[in-house]
Amino acid sequence: MGRRIWPLLLALLLAGCAAPEEPCRRELEAMDTYMVLTVYGPRAGEAAGQGEALLRELEARLSVTEEDSEIYRANHSGGEPVPLSEDTARLLAQALALCESTEGALDVTIYPVVRSWGFTTGAFRVPEEAELARLLERVDYTRVRLEGDSLTLPEGVELDLGAVAKGWAGDRLTELFRSLGITSAIVELGGNVQAMGTRPDGEPWRVAVQAPEGGYAAALEVADKAVVTSGGYQRYFQQDGKTYCHIIDPAAGRPAESGLASVTVVADRGVRADGLSTALFVMGRERAEAYWREHGDFELIFLGEDGGAAVTEGLEDCFTLYGEWEDRPLEIVRR
Ligand code: ADP
Ligand code: MG
Repeated sequence: MGRRIWPLLLALLLAGCAAPEEPCRRELEAMDTYMVLTVYGPRAGEAAGQGEALLRELEARLSVTEEDSEIYRANHSGGEPVPLSEDTARLLAQALALCESTEGALDVTIYPVVRSWGFTTGAFRVPEEAELARLLERVDYTRVRLEGDSLTLPEGVELDLGAVAKGWAGDRLTELFRSLGITSAIVELGGNVQAMGTRPDGEPWRVAVQAPEGGYAAALEVADKAVVTSGGYQRYFQQDGKTYCHIIDPAAGRPAESGLASVTVVADRGVRADGLSTALFVMGRERAEAYWREHGDFELIFLGEDGGAAVTEGLEDCFTLYGEWEDRPLEIVRR
């Protein structure tokens, strides 16, 4: 049966160095996940409070299941244009660009398929081949029409921004904090970590990467980065001895089976890291490496189902395997 393990990544605040001031730490559940905001500075309390309100607002706008959300209304528009808020339109435009650049490995119209596997309701099932073929006819991000803030979805096409929403939320939180003069904060939104600035003592943030079997596999030192993991172990169900994960390969309509246990993307922006982590998990290691060589504005951590680990060369000096994974060989992927 379905099981969720969170948080995937845990921001480890190194003990021992007294912070200039105490952080404000706020835990909440939103967007179907457990979140922790840790903010430093004189206006930390205010920032955390406004941050929570922002997350609630994003959840209310972007949810696929809440009947008042913009996405729900678009999905039930019967082919008529619907107005979007400026913020949702910006997110959708960026998500569509990622769908195109990943050649549909990310596809924001995958929702009918995700639902038929039961990932939205928890009523898990393995759909018949014929049903999947029928549903896949409705999956095609190129049919989404976004003109300014006006969205038109052809009848039957439904959006799900679940693969990018938390990354977007991380970016929006960072902007909000910056506008309040905050220079040091770290937010964990389920498998997404957004590290703003450095720790208050000027040292990099240490972010832990979860091991697929539980516990932690690695630690990463970063400043001003989003660190986002997509893993087959995050949300899945088992039937007849087979495991089905919540990330769907849009080419097949079936859970991705690429040999990866997880892929972590380290990028400047949360929305890019989030969209890519989902897409590169679908692509598998070989295609993901090719995509990295072609684009190169982000770095990757691969944990294989075979227990192997690899990182792209930009992380060579800030990444260490950890715990049970400490003695395993680490492959460095070069350009
Ligand atoms: P999580 O939200 O669990 O951190 P992801 O960012 O990888 O993980 O997003 C997975 C979610 O995105 C799924 O729960 C589903 O709603 C949706 N999804 C699954 N496969 C795809 C895909 N290929 N393209 C776009 N969205 C997807
Ligand atoms: Mg994602």
